[in-house]
Amino acid sequence: MAKISINLKDGTAKKEDTLIVGIDLGTTNSLVAYMNDGKPVAVKNKKNQNTLVPSIIHFLPNGQKLVGNDAREKLRTDPANTIYSVKRLMGKSYNDLSAVSEYLGYEVLDDDTESLVKIRVGDTFYTPVELSANILSALKNTVESALNQAVSKAVITVPAYFNDAQRQATRDAGKLAGLEVLRIVNEPTAASLAYGLGLEEEEAKLIAVYDLGGGTFDISILQIHDGIFEVLSTNGDTFLGGDDIDRLLIDYWLKINGRDQQDFIVDKKKGQELRLIAERAKKTLSSQLLFKERYDGMNCQIAREVFDQLIEPLINRTLDKCKSALKDAGKTISDIQHVVMVGGSTRIPHIKESVSNFFQQPLFDELNPDEVVALGAAVQADILAGNQKGMLLLDITPLSLGIETVGGLMDAIIPRNSKVPSRAARQYTTSVDGQVNLKVAVYQGERDQIANNRKLGEFILKGIPPMPAGLPKIEIIFAIDADGILRVTARELRSGVEQEIEIKSQYGISEEDMAKMLMDSITNAEADLKIRSLLEARNEANNVVLATQKFLEQNDQILSDDEKNKTRALAESLKASINGEDKDLINKAMADLNDYTTPIAHRAMDVHVADAMRGTNLKDK
Ligand code: ADP
Ligand code: MG
Repeated sequence: MAKISINLKDGTAKKEDTLIVGIDLGTTNSLVAYMNDGKPVAVKNKKNQNTLVPSIIHFLPNGQKLVGNDAREKLRTDPANTIYSVKRLMGKSYNDLSAVSEYLGYEVLDDDTESLVKIRVGDTFYTPVELSANILSALKNTVESALNQAVSKAVITVPAYFNDAQRQATRDAGKLAGLEVLRIVNEPTAASLAYGLGLEEEEAKLIAVYDLGGGTFDISILQIHDGIFEVLSTNGDTFLGGDDIDRLLIDYWLKINGRDQQDFIVDKKKGQELRLIAERAKKTLSSQLLFKERYDGMNCQIAREVFDQLIEPLINRTLDKCKSALKDAGKTISDIQHVVMVGGSTRIPHIKESVSNFFQQPLFDELNPDEVVALGAAVQADILAGNQKGMLLLDITPLSLGIETVGGLMDAIIPRNSKVPSRAARQYTTSVDGQVNLKVAVYQGERDQIANNRKLGEFILKGIPPMPAGLPKIEIIFAIDADGILRVTARELRSGVEQEIEIKSQYGISEEDMAKMLMDSITNAEADLKIRSLLEARNEANNVVLATQKFLEQNDQILSDDEKNKTRALAESLKASINGEDKDLINKAMADLNDYTTPIAHRAMDVHVADAMRGTNLKDK
């Protein structure tokens, strides 16, 4: 129910916070849209009347930030302090980045660990979440000043292939920007919604969403049935987009003018200028047949026909990806009922023509392709606000979610294509007598071996009461909320000891920790690593303590009192070290115990072997 508040100044009743905006947080451009009289509208920036806000942040020497068009200007003059393509870094660890960092003009901190990337600007380190939050804040300001009302709720879109860590990072960016993120929606789902697809209950429909943006290409095959959007497959190229078209044009002009590329690499400013001309030419050719300009003694001219030939190979690459996506979805071209065009680069007539030919049908392309995702997000927001009766939109998990079991195998708990929100539980037990800890490692993917899937995170369930192997009943619960964000809980049922743990994905940070963590992020990355190695040492030490107890019991008659006492004493100090915080101390205590017991264990083993050969059993004595 909508809240109504009374304005004390003029006594009028005012709807409070009923507006939920839709946000497309893009790699190249971002924008915000809202529902106006039942129709989604993209919000214009008052200053330049543009709806698109370049996803660029510039840090001024005084620490202040510029976002959007103003920041874009600085790409040329001050690239080290100007951050773009942040979306590529969301939820990524350094290890994920080898391919990307080279391509970025700013410094991505690389300390060769699994922790999350940070971006260095001057002496300060920023996380992709913080930087995305800057873009989201700018969008929030834009819509607030355009509508003259406070906005605090949003739906934000992400690519269909975004994993849990990337979705969580996006959600946190929203939170940091002061937005309550009611839903994370897949971009192709939003684009379909903008065209009203899936808004009526009817026969299942198969939709292809072709999205060619500034730097990325995505093709998604969606099935819509009764308001459920199922992503059957996604494919694409994270380094193929409008930027590549600009580069083709530049190369073409350098060639026909007999100019050396090196001139424009050495003189960055000139290179950037030429890039802007190329983009202008490309856009002009979307509505005209010829572009003509001169720059630096060069004839920058190109006709639509020549341009079309130039981009033909690039178009073919996207169509190859479409073929793969169809194949992965187990569908053919004739199964596709609608084709939705998304992304600024699909304004190019030859691209439209080629895609239409490929899918053998007319396209959904009447809406602005660079606004369509945000418009759809606004529609989704409207549904969430309860303004579209009877509509409930669901998404589906693109990949299976499960845990690692013995031998490095994946045990899927929530299979792919499950509707979200979703919840599933499965029981496990221990494999070692007296096992008190259980490591729960969570993976996403379809392969049998976890090594081939993507690790989302892990935690250790501690305090299982010691029992013989196979007796504990450990229930692992997977719960995915409506945004596709996963929480994993583990509890031991038999003992009644209950321990609930929220999974920390590779990205994951808890709500309370977030603000603090963002501030001293570097220190925390180190601390995380420390905690992890401490937990690992504790886990191993616990196992050693148990093994020692068993060893003492089984060899009671072989060991001298002195040996037993000394072993017990060493085990006691190991136990004491487990309660401490020093992993080196734990490892030292383990080594001491191990050094002392190894020769005794060998002797005990010899006695057992000799007894076995004589056919006697120690216990019978
Ligand atoms: P993203 O989803 O990556 O944030 P957009 O969907 O906003 O990006 O697409 C940006 C790209 O679209 C840029 O490469 C831009 O040059 C290109 N673009 C915008 N308008 C046109 C046009 N009229 N003709 C051709 N390309 C265009
Ligand atoms: Mg986009």
